[in-house]
Amino acid sequence: MKKLALHWKIIIGMVLGIIFGFIMNGIDGGKDIVTNWISPFGTIFINLLKLIAVPLILASLIKGISDLKDISKIKSMGLRTIGIYMTTTLIAVIIGLAIVNVVKPGNGMPQDTLEKIKLKYENDAGVTDRIAQASAQKDAGPLQALVDIFPSNIFKAFADASMLQVIFFALFVGICLLLIGEKKAKPLVNFFDSLNEVVMKMVDLIMLFAPYAVFALLANVIIAFDDTEILVKLLYYALCVVGGLISMIIVYLVLVSVIAKKSPIWFLKELSPAQLLAFSTSSSAATLPVTMERVEEHLGVDKEVSGFVLPVGATVNMDGTSLYQGIAAVFIMQVLWPEGLTFTNQLVIIGTAVLASIGSAAVPSAGIVMLVIVLESVGFPAELLPIGIALIFAVDRPLDMGRTVVNVTGDATVSMLVAKSLDKLHEPQPKEWDDHYDEV
Ligand code: ASP
Repeated sequence: MKKLALHWKIIIGMVLGIIFGFIMNGIDGGKDIVTNWISPFGTIFINLLKLIAVPLILASLIKGISDLKDISKIKSMGLRTIGIYMTTTLIAVIIGLAIVNVVKPGNGMPQDTLEKIKLKYENDAGVTDRIAQASAQKDAGPLQALVDIFPSNIFKAFADASMLQVIFFALFVGICLLLIGEKKAKPLVNFFDSLNEVVMKMVDLIMLFAPYAVFALLANVIIAFDDTEILVKLLYYALCVVGGLISMIIVYLVLVSVIAKKSPIWFLKELSPAQLLAFSTSSSAATLPVTMERVEEHLGVDKEVSGFVLPVGATVNMDGTSLYQGIAAVFIMQVLWPEGLTFTNQLVIIGTAVLASIGSAAVPSAGIVMLVIVLESVGFPAELLPIGIALIFAVDRPLDMGRTVVNVTGDATVSMLVAKSLDKLHEPQPKEWDDHYDEV
């Protein structure tokens, strides 16, 4: 009998987790059972993925760069990556703004719904915390983001899992390995090559646990929902975001088929375990090791490309997040500050949402923090900010899950495009054990 493929196992885990969450929501003490006895397994899984992220970036990038043999290739890879990332993010925001301006989900929101939302969420710690985080982020100087790329202590960068700092260090080591010549570089290159193999194997093993972990993660998400009434009232807004996210996935599939000349169905099938994890964890950073494994071993992108494009993408390329920020900002303005919806302000939203996606951390609900900055950039009245954020807070988690899928799919797509343009896209060669792993 043919064994079930990994993505089907994960989907079954997710569905069962959702059903279990609903059942526990209806039982006395059910939420406590999920919180105390089920949810920790999801946390263990995410911890394991985070555990291997730094060694994986380090090993695959250093090994990849030292394989390039030519420093000028690094420059062209870097420029292409940033260029394509900016372009796809721009497309995402424009799609978002087009949808929200046509559908106008914020027009005609009943006053009593608004009052209810205000009452429930305006002073909610989740809302006030995010506004405080946004102001802390804004208080840093304009070049702080650039300064933050350069670590002063590499162990601190590792400990904080500061992606851009780790990438910088790996690039620095990789380039210096190229400069000292093959003979002297060999022992270190071999070391990182071997480390890369070990970490990739770790991903395989951790993924065996994925179907159970997603069960725990989704049960935990479901028990947090307790206000279906507000959810229904925000349905149009939520559908706009979902419609935008689906449109963006279609854009990626077209790019994969037209530019990378690969079948979109094959691309989705091979990437699906990473997408399902993005959905379950709401974090592109936690998903990164799996994205790298899928892209390198199942989509055929060479390490030197994936090792650079994917970690950079997880940090700076968030098309789903910027699309959502465009829609959410305009929706909030439609409800609370329609006079601010000028053409110029919409252009400002495009610019700030693109930048905000670079500044958003790859963790759950980071997008809503940067949304505060997007709103402030168009002069949204400060006294209305808590209500504005409260307005979208109730549906943020499911939308976060969706936008994280788009963020991860966008990174994988761009890695295919960059690899294709550098002739670094090959027929994937699944390892012997890999076949087995997909069918375990
Ligand atoms: N959760 C998203 C991610 O990790 C970021 C966000 O939009 O909140 O990619």
